[in-house]
Amino acid sequence: MVAHTCTLCGEPVTRNQMELEIELTRHGATPGLTRYHLHTKCFAAWELERKQRGSERVPEAVSPI
Ligand SMILES: [Zn+2]
Repeated sequence: MVAHTCTLCGEPVTRNQMELEIELTRHGATPGLTRYHLHTKCFAAWELERKQRGSERVPEAVSPI
């Protein structure tokens, strides 16, 4: 089994923890769909931040492949 890495905190997302998979549509030079794996607690924190900032920005921890 391949463990996913949390996009936000960088820790592995194990089966014991709740994993959340989200897809965001990218625009720009390489349009497409990016899939993120997050702990539910991390996603909640990210959602909160996004709402406060009013932006759809991807977390800075994300590095393009
Ligand atoms: Zn996390």
